[in-house]
Formats: sequence, C-alpha cells, structure tokens
Amino acid sequence: MSDNINIAIDGFAACGKSTLAKQLAQRLSYIYVDTGAMYRAVTLYFERHNVVADNALAVGDALANIHISFVKNTTNTHVDTYLNGENVEQAIRSSAIANKVSLVSAIKAVRTFLVEQQQVIGKDKGVVMDGRDIGTVVFPDAALKLFLTADIEVRTQRRYEELQSKNMPQNYVEVQKNLQERDHLDSTREESPLRKALDAVVVDNSNLTPEEQLAMVLALVGCRVNG
Ligand code: C5P
Repeated sequence: MSDNINIAIDGFAACGKSTLAKQLAQRLSYIYVDTGAMYRAVTLYFERHNVVADNALAVGDALANIHISFVKNTTNTHVDTYLNGENVEQAIRSSAIANKVSLVSAIKAVRTFLVEQQQVIGKDKGVVMDGRDIGTVVFPDAALKLFLTADIEVRTQRRYEELQSKNMPQNYVEVQKNLQERDHLDSTREESPLRKALDAVVVDNSNLTPEEQLAMVLALVGCRVNG
C-alpha cells in the first residue's frame, strides 16, 4: 500500500503557496495542482466569450465547453496551463484576469465544476494542491493542511518581482491593490470562502526563506506519513 498523502495548501494571494507546492511535489514525486490557474483559465474563457456572471444559462453553456489541463513545459521545470488545447499560462497571469478572477470564482456553478475535477485528480493521493478551499472543501480529509500567510508588503514585493521576471511588469501600488481586493472578495464570498481549516497548520513565511519553509514543512510531512 502506498504511503502517499494529499497535502492541502491554502492562504491569501501571493503568499508563496505555489512555490512551496512545487518544491514539495518535486521532493516527494507528487503531482502539483495549481487550482488558482484553473479559476484563472475559466475567467479567461468568460472574458473571451463575454460570459456574464449572473447569466446562469450562459455560465452553464460556457462550462460545458471548457477543458483545462496541465502540461509539463519542455524548456523549464514549470507546468503550463492549457485551456481547450491552447497554452494560456501567460494570458491567465495578466492584470486583466487578476482583476476579474475573484468575481468568477465566487460563482457556485464554477466552483462545483472545478472542485469535482480537483477531487478526481486527488482520489489516489500523492497530490499537493494549492488554492483557497483545498483544506475546507476539496480535500477535507487531507492528512496535511497548511494555511500560509505573510505580511502584505512582503507579498506585494514578491508578486511585483515575479511579474517583472516574467516580463509582465506592473505598478507596485496596483499589484498591492489587487492582492487586497482579491483577499477581501475571496474571504467574504458566500460560496466556499477562504478560511483556515480547523486542523490546518498556520505558516507565516514573512521572514522565512523558501528553503527554511520547505524544511519545516517536510518535517510535518514526515510526521503525517510515518506517524
Ligand atoms: O492562487 P491564485 O492567486 O492564482 O488564485 C486566483 C484566484 O482564484 C483567487 O484570488 C481566488 O479568487 C480564486 N481561487 C479560488 N479557489 C481556489 C483557488 C483560487 O477561489 N481554490
């Protein structure tokens, strides 16, 4: 029998969830799933097809035409997000999508559609998934749940530098405004709001390097797998 577990990582925007999730997946040979990318891909589709959130019929029709997949990039170690066969990794990181994604992710039908797919991916364990509702809704039985947080200035600086490194520079103040707005919308929505699961371990990584954080979390994984 496999010792694999599911690891759920939730937290505010730009808390380093995906960095940690990718590191863990690599170290443990687990599958990494960026659920934020899935919500962003749906938002991109809605944008392109002028789907309005309060038109339930249009939302349902659109979802029936959306296929999201993840493909390993051959030029680096990243996994790219595909929407109906098109690589949309760059498009889903734009400010236009970042500014709309929290509205789209608040739609119940969208969440049901994506959560179902996420649960299928995790059914055999060995998955590291990051998002906002992974420990509370997607994998309520995950053996390890983490809730990441960090100071807002630290988060803004990290996202600002990340966008610069991807040749998608944005104004620092605008980046911060987007993070704060998304955190507010994500935490206050009716459907699966961002919450720390009762049994999640809180990790404030404001003053931790990615390596220090990884070492700490690997120790927790060891306890869950062996203990
Ligand atoms: O993780 P990322 O910042 O890319 O997520 C983008 C947005 O997708 C979040 O701000 C949130 O609105 C939505 N999301 C969500 N549930 C998840 C993952 C992301 O509602 N599990």
